[in-house]
Amino acid sequence: MEFIKNLGEKAKDIGGMAKDLTKRSGELLEVTKLRFEINKLQKILDNNLEAIGELSYRRFKGEEGLGEEIERLLQSTQVLEKDMENMKEQIEKLTPKAPACPKCSKELPQEANYCANCGQKVVE
Ligand SMILES: [Zn+2]
Repeated sequence: MEFIKNLGEKAKDIGGMAKDLTKRSGELLEVTKLRFEINKLQKILDNNLEAIGELSYRRFKGEEGLGEEIERLLQSTQVLEKDMENMKEQIEKLTPKAPACPKCSKELPQEANYCANCGQKVVE
């Protein structure tokens, strides 16, 4: 009976692991989506800046009635920038941090006991 119970426990463990894996790949997918979205926004932002530059120059040369359009572009560019910052923060949160050496801050491999860079003993 004890044996069967143990098997049951094991199965539960594996179930938990599978759930973790699903969560991990879900997060990875989310990060990919966010990166894609950031790239898209970056292109729009670049276009905005280019348009702002051109309109500002035309205004400088004396063309009238551009103020409103420039203002609108400035505003929407700022919104885009904030959106992108938020998405980058989300990516940060979803990306697990690699462990780092407490002494020299160099990134460490997952199971390292000593830092390969400075020799610092790494305590869990
Ligand atoms: Zn180190």
